[in-house]
Amino acid sequence: MWNIDQAYIDGAFVPVQGSERLEICNPATERAIGTVTLANREDAKRAIAAANRAQPALARSTRAQRIDMLRRLEAAVLARTDRIREATIEEYGGPLARSQWVSNYASQCFATTAQALRDYAFERRLGEATVVMEPVGVAGLIAPWNAAAGSICSKLASAIAAGCASVVKPSELGPLQAQAVTEALHDAGLPPGVFNVLLGRGSDVGDEIATSAGIAKISFTGSTQTGKLIARAGVDTMKRVSLALSGKSATLVLDDADLAATLPLALNAAFMNNGQACVAGTRLLIPRVHMKAAIEQVRAAAAALRVGDPRDPATAVGPLASQAQFDRVQHFIRRGLAQGATLVAGGEGRPDGFERGWFVRPTVFAEVRNDMDIAREEIFGPVLSMIGYGDEDEAIGIANDSPYGLQAYVFSSDAQRALRVASRLRAGTVLVNRIAPELAAPFGGVKQSGVGREFGVFGMEAFLEPKTIAAADGIA
Ligand code: NAD
Repeated sequence: MWNIDQAYIDGAFVPVQGSERLEICNPATERAIGTVTLANREDAKRAIAAANRAQPALARSTRAQRIDMLRRLEAAVLARTDRIREATIEEYGGPLARSQWVSNYASQCFATTAQALRDYAFERRLGEATVVMEPVGVAGLIAPWNAAAGSICSKLASAIAAGCASVVKPSELGPLQAQAVTEALHDAGLPPGVFNVLLGRGSDVGDEIATSAGIAKISFTGSTQTGKLIARAGVDTMKRVSLALSGKSATLVLDDADLAATLPLALNAAFMNNGQACVAGTRLLIPRVHMKAAIEQVRAAAAALRVGDPRDPATAVGPLASQAQFDRVQHFIRRGLAQGATLVAGGEGRPDGFERGWFVRPTVFAEVRNDMDIAREEIFGPVLSMIGYGDEDEAIGIANDSPYGLQAYVFSSDAQRALRVASRLRAGTVLVNRIAPELAAPFGGVKQSGVGREFGVFGMEAFLEPKTIAAADGIA
């Protein structure tokens, strides 16, 4: 049994002052596997004070010193990859391959950021001025439960590269993952206060971070709804905010695409991470002339997807993270049926043979209109909507007709055509004939999917601000 009752403040694990206790359950069995005692506002104030003490020295640190810190973090997290993977499976039900990927990514993002930092021009000449990129100040890093390890490490890497100390608030719904990552980060032996980690409620610890005058910048990943609260809460102290928010990605299959090669990738994009992914491609746009064939292929592929024990390498879809997630997905499946979509695969309830665990049936709807709830709202579970279109312009119109714009996918046998379509899509990222991300490139959303970018150079710049120094002739 896990018992998590400490926060990481000023370089040490210390007992939290908060007293609220939550039970941690394994979503595959619904059995309790531990408890977490949440930090409170007072703990947050201590963490913010510690980060502020560390900030001046970190801001003065050299490029070489920061690269050294990132390398040490990379090695420390790499050494704990297995533990992070196990926490991801046990607490969250992430399938083995995905959990392994997330754990590997947690260490890799320090390496990618170190690479970006190596060549970065902190100083440049513009006209008669010297422009210096300076750290923005102490940062609050607020992460969701569905990508806990990666989100924490990627934000921390960017903050350190820029010279910003931080207070990290992982989701209270992902305590094992946060604990495994924090133990790894501690092993890197960074100066006390450079990063502090505490698990607490958003309305309490999160709000303290969002409103404190001791925090200059918030880097938030989570739902659009919470992102708006944070942006509003931060305005009085004029916080800089980066918001990585919800998505409702479109997968455009052009009429020249090879369906047999494309549809398995499209299903993978829809159901990755048990469908609990901001980048899940949940609207599958198919030319009407190919719809009948596509439905038959998708039906067969969905039926072949193995739902079950996330530790089994053959499992494609594990349990959802919680009963709340299970209930949410059931609600949207009922909505789809009520609004007249046609069920192609899956449906309400648990898959046959499952009596316990938050397992749902991977579900595909056809004859979905883009104004139905299942096409407009982020469901955050394995529910895919197939939408028919006539020509390329109509497909682009449907894809862009969404409040969200995080990541889109285009499949075609004509690379030039696919790139032309990609250029017309309103999304932060467009992946062409692939579903694997490029981690050196910026990641973030347009419209209600967010503000600002993460990863690599752009992720680091989100923690920097330009200062202009222009001197009279003869001085500089
Ligand atoms: P959430 O918005 O409920 O919570 C995210 C974090 O915000 C948690 O740590 C939570 O405790 C905190 N929080 C809640 N209320 C707060 C407040 N008032 N002030 C400060 N902090 C507060 O999101 P979630 O359910 O944990 O994550 C799922 C959502 O995140 C989905 O919408 C998904 O699309 C999105 N997401 C986006 C990305 C991306 O990169 N764009 C990546 C992963 C997840």
